[in-house]
Amino acid sequence: MDIGAGHVTAGVVSAGGKILFSQSMETQDPERPGSLIGRLEELIRSQLLRAHEQKLELAGIGIGSPGIVNSALGIVVAAGNLPELFGAHLGERFAQAFALPVLVENDVNALALGEMLFGVAKGQKNFIVFALGTDLGGGVVLDGKLIPGANFIAAEFGHLTLDLHGKKCVCGGVGCAREWVSGAGLAERARELLPEESQAIALAGTRSQVSAAEVFQAAEQGDRPAAELVEEFGRRFGALVSNVMKVLDPEVVVLGGEVCRTEPQVMNLVARWTRHYYFPIPKLPEFRLSQFSKGSAILGPAAAFLVKHRRRK
Ligand SMILES: [Zn+2]
Repeated sequence: MDIGAGHVTAGVVSAGGKILFSQSMETQDPERPGSLIGRLEELIRSQLLRAHEQKLELAGIGIGSPGIVNSALGIVVAAGNLPELFGAHLGERFAQAFALPVLVENDVNALALGEMLFGVAKGQKNFIVFALGTDLGGGVVLDGKLIPGANFIAAEFGHLTLDLHGKKCVCGGVGCAREWVSGAGLAERARELLPEESQAIALAGTRSQVSAAEVFQAAEQGDRPAAELVEEFGRRFGALVSNVMKVLDPEVVVLGGEVCRTEPQVMNLVARWTRHYYFPIPKLPEFRLSQFSKGSAILGPAAAFLVKHRRRK
């Protein structure tokens, strides 16, 4: 099951990474406020029933959640825009409800494992994942193992400091990368900085409606202020990737998330600026675009479960 800010998807995945079936629901139900965890349970139950009807044998349940996740205990410690999940013992609750082993993992860490088992990082032992959506998340796999960190807050690339005297961030830090390198950050800068005649504002209707999509679209159409914002975004993103590469020396850099999915040109832009800031070695790590779609996001949590399960054996 993949829990997103907008949608939750649950389904059954084969050990080889094939999605047999799945079902989605909106994360928030205005008619049933405060019911998220109960509705997650209902969604899982419906998929288990379907699996039972088809006589499928299930190994367990993998769950990807936004925010800080203690994957050892199956607890969502904090989840930005889903306060209902704060402190939720999802692992224990669903293990009891369904009598199956449950693994809960941060969604981008799960994505990294999904890429390793079923995606563009298949067969790679050292790679990093940047998930660019509303926010910027990250995942690190070294020597074939996910690195969650001592407090499960490793690879928070969106909160690396890019401006020593920048704005205060929601995380408590200052001048965090997400201010430039995230869908929400780019949109906010655009609403603040674009001149009235910018094509992005015309595309969005009003200034307050401008999102990252209109900024990219206007830039493609030759709107100079929008193109400058996109270039600055790419430059900062490249510097960030270069910094992370200097620490971890990966073989592959995977770019995923909603913004990379809808704006695949981001990859060349970021690769160009990464080269600018990185060591002048002849062979840079390979940049690869994640091929996961919105519908295949459950492959991440499924892979996270499989990786843990295989290790235990
Ligand atoms: Zn921050």
